[in-house]
Amino acid sequence: MTLHNVKVGILYATFLLLSLLYACKSNDYPKGSADHMAATVGMIDDDAIVNADDNQADWITYGGNYKEDRYVQLDHINKDNINQLSLAWTANLGTKRGIQATPLVVDGILYFTGPWNIVWAYDARSGKELWRFDAEVDRVKTATNICCGTINRGLAAYKGDLFTGTLDGRLISIDAATGTKNWEVKTTPEEGKYSITGAPRIMDGKVVIGNGGSEFDARGYVTAYDAKTGEQVWRFFTVPGDPSMPFEHPDLADAAKTWNGEWWKQGGGGTAWDAITYDPEQKTVFIGTGNGTHWNREIRSPGGGDNLYLSSIVAVNVEDGSYKWHYQTTPGDTWDYTATQHIIQADLEIEGEMRKVLMQAPKNGFFYVIDRTTGEFISADNYVYVNWASGIDKNGRPIENPGARYLDGQSHYIAPSSHGGHNWFPMAYNRQTGLVYIPTAHEVGAYGYSPDIGHDSREGVSGPLGGNVSMNSKLYRPPVIDPQAPPPGTVSGSLLAWDPIKQEEVWRVPQRLHQNGGVLTTSAGLVFQADAEGKFTARDASTGEALWEYDVRGGAIAPPVTYEVDGEQYVTLLVGWGGIQGMWYKAAALHPGTVYTFKLNGSGTPPEKIPFEEKPLTAMRTSASPVDIGKGVTAFVQYCVGCHLTTGMGGGVVPDLTRSTDAVLNNWDQIVLEGALEHNGMPNMSQWITKEEMERVKDFVLYTAGAFSEGMDPVTYQTNLAQMQYIGDQARMEEAKKIE
Ligand code: CA
Repeated sequence: MTLHNVKVGILYATFLLLSLLYACKSNDYPKGSADHMAATVGMIDDDAIVNADDNQADWITYGGNYKEDRYVQLDHINKDNINQLSLAWTANLGTKRGIQATPLVVDGILYFTGPWNIVWAYDARSGKELWRFDAEVDRVKTATNICCGTINRGLAAYKGDLFTGTLDGRLISIDAATGTKNWEVKTTPEEGKYSITGAPRIMDGKVVIGNGGSEFDARGYVTAYDAKTGEQVWRFFTVPGDPSMPFEHPDLADAAKTWNGEWWKQGGGGTAWDAITYDPEQKTVFIGTGNGTHWNREIRSPGGGDNLYLSSIVAVNVEDGSYKWHYQTTPGDTWDYTATQHIIQADLEIEGEMRKVLMQAPKNGFFYVIDRTTGEFISADNYVYVNWASGIDKNGRPIENPGARYLDGQSHYIAPSSHGGHNWFPMAYNRQTGLVYIPTAHEVGAYGYSPDIGHDSREGVSGPLGGNVSMNSKLYRPPVIDPQAPPPGTVSGSLLAWDPIKQEEVWRVPQRLHQNGGVLTTSAGLVFQADAEGKFTARDASTGEALWEYDVRGGAIAPPVTYEVDGEQYVTLLVGWGGIQGMWYKAAALHPGTVYTFKLNGSGTPPEKIPFEEKPLTAMRTSASPVDIGKGVTAFVQYCVGCHLTTGMGGGVVPDLTRSTDAVLNNWDQIVLEGALEHNGMPNMSQWITKEEMERVKDFVLYTAGAFSEGMDPVTYQTNLAQMQYIGDQARMEEAKKIE
């Protein structure tokens, strides 16, 4: 027997012993009892997460494992028997807000988050609720502090506890056995509109969390806390602060050289609101960072600069949070092209050499492969249609197209839009096919800039968003439209299979809307994804062919998970339409948030299907003058568009105002200025909008309803709006002069 064989033997014996211990410990207690949950979640330690691949029965960390590839080596459900996959049970969560979460699964128990930071534990076999925890977020106060819905993406689990971040910026440790709070820390400043929607991650005994808020004057950072005590271990700032003060960490001195002006007064942005991943081998944390505040670099950092570390992947030491390296996907971002999107780790053979890589499809439309040891750029190519840059050069810098920075007084229709070619919806990487499955979006955004419209001006887009975004707020600016890009006002999506080594498309399935669910892939050669129309589909991972489909009633955005209980493989998907795009669009009726769990030959009964009926346009009309309607267009863009977007599209979770009921239109004052529908999430707008402006918005809404009822074509409608907004603006300026 060689020494090597002895070592293998010892390792194998240890593995058997550990498996036995695990089996004894978890089988001692009835599944779902407090003792059972304490024992099984209690076994999730650093080694358990590092070796998550050895435990395919469970799903113990956000992306399934530290690689976050969402690849599961279970094949009880396979291409031969997928037609027998059927509903095991459903559970109505009693909410109509968006659900984005990936459940954790530990020995047959599901743990997941829902709207407004409610956390649930369910028995995966029976669908029985075991406990629920409510973080008790102040809903009225929080509603205007968040950009993109009252959502949450998931939990972390470690040594008997669960961890969740809240919309009001707290990090909470919960006892997995009982659903009661162990401790909480406020991880965002008391002042400012910071929020947490991302899942915490466990790394080296610490719980690591970022936050969001780059649309609202935030300064991004990531914090690591001791998982047992909640004590802060380190904090890494993603952008430099006021350079007249000492920098919090030395690398920020170099980062500050890439900024101009007084960016710190608006925070700078760069918030890390989703992907924060960990390589245990190198003890390195990878942080995906967000866009700048203000979006437009000319306002944020006049005269230019790369503005580190906006729209970047930053690598830091897990022990002390010190800087290792960074790679910036969008230098000097000016389009809301965040790099917070999903980061997958893989080992790929590139030009004959095995490389430890990171893969990311950030909002900017390019798919990146980067060396995760050094941060060196390996390759990139566009995975959706892109017109802001013609490609990425050999040094990893984008080659920007003329006009892309929209500084010429025109309205540039740029692809991708600020929603990105891909957003937070998790991708999956199948280690057998070698393909990455990406939920992609196809849309242009209208970007505009007027030097006379400053940061503090009320002329910016959407008052509650602080005027920090750079969408076209003046319809009469000359448009620059790219005929090859998706037409303005249209949206669509696709599920894309991408070869990361060749940087090319392998297959693509078109989808009706630009927001569809996250992805799961298995060793049985399957890809699972649900879409905006409520179709949950299993596809052949090699060809994209649909092998199985199930109607989950409402549009889905969350990714499914798969796991094993008592020798049976299950698939669970949380369904609940919402999030940013879901605020404005829908392709299925809104159903209550529901847990769907499937297995082979399940015998569950599906919930009732609500038919999809579009609400009619209001029959009310306005006799307002074109000047007044034009003033209404401007007020709508300033105060309403952040939630209600353009009217006439049908609406999503947030209603389309042209389809308001008579009761709403007759109580306009009370709703807008007195908060009559605050309980539904419509904030009291009296601190922003005047009674006069509110009336003009109503004129604009009723004009639009009339135009659409008469079948006015979209180009004529847009042209009319632009003309009316122009004369409305002229009139307002004249009136302002008279007052002076
Ligand atoms: Ca953003």
